[in-house]
Formats: sequence, C-alpha cells, structure tokens
Amino acid sequence: MSLADELAARLPAGTALEFGELRLSRLDDGRFEARHRDDADTAGGLEGIDSVRDLRDLAKSDADGGYRPLKTAPGLKRGWRTETGCPREFLARLDAIYPGLFAAWAAYAKGELPPVPLRRTLGRQTGMYRLANTIDDAMAERLRRELCDAGCLRQIAWPIDEGDPAETITAETGHLPLLCTEACTFAVSRARELAKVARSVSHGSRVTSAEKSTPHDP
Ligand code: SF4
Repeated sequence: MSLADELAARLPAGTALEFGELRLSRLDDGRFEARHRDDADTAGGLEGIDSVRDLRDLAKSDADGGYRPLKTAPGLKRGWRTETGCPREFLARLDAIYPGLFAAWAAYAKGELPPVPLRRTLGRQTGMYRLANTIDDAMAERLRRELCDAGCLRQIAWPIDEGDPAETITAETGHLPLLCTEACTFAVSRARELAKVARSVSHGSRVTSAEKSTPHDP
C-alpha cells in the first residue's frame, strides 16, 4: 500500500482527523480537505489554496508575517482551505505544511522508525557542534522544556540516553500525532548554546578560585 493509500485508509469518507494545527477531513463524496483546526466550524469565506507551492508559502510565515523557521511551531495562519480528490496530491499538500510527518507517523506506527536517543544525535555532531554533546541531563531536560515543550507541536519519542526507555506514542481517536523521533537541528544548536554557557561559567569559576588561592604579598 502506498503512503497516499494509507492516508486515505485512515480518513474514510465522512470522517476527520486533527494533525498538528490542521484539521483533515474526507467529504462525503470522497474528496479530501485540510484547513486550520481553528477554522473547523467556519462555513464560508475561507481562501481556497490549490497548489503545493502556495501551501508551502503559507507555512513560511505566521499571521503577523513573522518567519516560521520551525515548521511545527504553533502559529500556522488561519483563513484558508485546500481540497482535492487525489490522495497523492493531498499527501503532497500536507507535506508542504508538515514535511514528511505523515510518513514518519506511518513508519513509527509499524515499528519501522525507532527513535534516536538525544546523546546519539549529539555524539554525531562535528566541528563547532561537537560541544553540544557535553550537556548534562539537567541541560537536556531544560532543552526539552524550553525549546520543544514551549515552542513545538511535535511529540517527543526520543529518550535522552541510550539506556533510557523510549516513550511509546499512540494515536488518540481523531488525532494523528506530529512525531519527533530524532532531535532536530534547532535542538542541537540549543544544546551547543547551553554547553557554551556551562563552559564559560565553569571557566569563570576556575579563574575565580585560582585568584582566591593566589597568596597576597605581606
Ligand atoms: S527536537 Fe523535535 S520536538 Fe524539539 S523542537 Fe525539534 S522538532 Fe520540535
């Protein structure tokens, strides 16, 4: 079964699913529709968007015109809808907003996309990003809290350490999870920032204690 067929099978005619900030529905005639979930009950007046390119443009900025570098950050614009009868085209339109995330969920649900522990991701970094792998567990928790929980709609499946159990994410009725199976580049970058701060603090305290231990002249 192709990915588009899987999507169609999860969305039979007359049903709807929430997927991040999207509401996906299958009309009674079998056509597919997506719109912002906050527009779920809007009867008319939504702008029709009929191309992958235009949806990609829509997802680039929020309602105030601010750039959305992280595609799964909350803040997707409202006021539009997209409709097609072709499952492949519908999947391509979803990918324009949440790239690869239906595929990720489908693979994860079949056990084909094991989560990657944070330490493995950080351990693969090279160059100036190698420093990222020096964060301790408290910093890793802080990263999850401040970057992921506060500013991203994806559900984290990755553990911090290799030995930690990975969280099992299941789809609630009427929902398709936006999954995160491996820390993204924003998380790696944030880990590096935290590591840099920790290094400068520890360097500062080493200098201070060295100064304190310097004997004074009589
Ligand atoms: S690591 Fe995953 S959950 Fe965290 S910000 Fe990146 S994509 Fe979102």
